[in-house]
Amino acid sequence: MSLPKAELHLHIEGTLEPELAFELAARNGVSLPYADTDALREAYRFADLQSFLNLYYELMAVLRTERDFEDLANAYLARAAAQGVRHAEIFFDPQAHLARGVGMGTVVEGLWRALGNSEAAHGVSTQLIMCFLRDESAESALETLEAAKPYLDRIAGVGLDSAEVGHPPVKFREVYDSAAALGLRRVAHAGEEGPPEYITEALDVLGVERIDHGLRCMEDPALVERLVRDRVPLTLCPLSNVRLRTVDVLGDHPLPAMLEAGLMCTVNSDDPAYFGGYAGDNFDAVHQALGLGEDRLRELARNSFLASFLDHDEERRTRYLAEVEAYAFP
Ligand SMILES: [Zn+2]
Repeated sequence: MSLPKAELHLHIEGTLEPELAFELAARNGVSLPYADTDALREAYRFADLQSFLNLYYELMAVLRTERDFEDLANAYLARAAAQGVRHAEIFFDPQAHLARGVGMGTVVEGLWRALGNSEAAHGVSTQLIMCFLRDESAESALETLEAAKPYLDRIAGVGLDSAEVGHPPVKFREVYDSAAALGLRRVAHAGEEGPPEYITEALDVLGVERIDHGLRCMEDPALVERLVRDRVPLTLCPLSNVRLRTVDVLGDHPLPAMLEAGLMCTVNSDDPAYFGGYAGDNFDAVHQALGLGEDRLRELARNSFLASFLDHDEERRTRYLAEVEAYAFP
């Protein structure tokens, strides 16, 4: 669906399609334990978040040079643009690369080669959000922020991702305080596999402006009331939720109930190469499986721009919002 939209929950490493993985593996002399792209796609049947993360980290071995990160980002931006994405706030996971001996500069400057030229090349404005891996230590997160300091003109904010359960937001209080002091925006994954309390903690302890996923808020009516009252955006990823078994089938997804409750929901793709679809595919899926009509789809698109970090460029946000209103559904 080419309805104009912003993508606010997208891990750039999760856009690595099997074809590009094999191309980069060949370029860098890395051998993958799969015979071909079909065999690799077979591995994309996940039991849960952890089984996905195992493959996600394994495939990252093919990303070695600035050019690799540039090619990865350009491939995503081209696909996103074709599905109506006008603005993308893109996550990256530096710790996963630093641990393999790939430096912060290689990752950020490589991504920036694509992002810095994205408006001209793809018609998509972009921002970069650096995520901390929550299953790594708080000290490692602090070291990562330190390593990013020379590149802060390229980085708009920080996030928190990877295995959620057992790694509550409070563990990262100090690094979020430091990020805030540096003027960085703050978001965090919470309430995907973890309990509703993690959402409350992310808001109260980490001071986040958006919650990534957050669908388990529906288990706590007082929390829903708060999220509605404060207009806290939730970046939902419906196809990801099905692939990672957060919901059994898309028809069971709580998105319609969440919209009905007045929550400020957005629809995003998370790790599209692994979860079966990009942003527009997610919109198509919720339209078909959940029966969301044009008004709701337009609301989701409007929310995506309202929830984006375009505060420095309200003129642009207004232009994007006008495109949403003017869009004619096929
Ligand atoms: Zn995510």
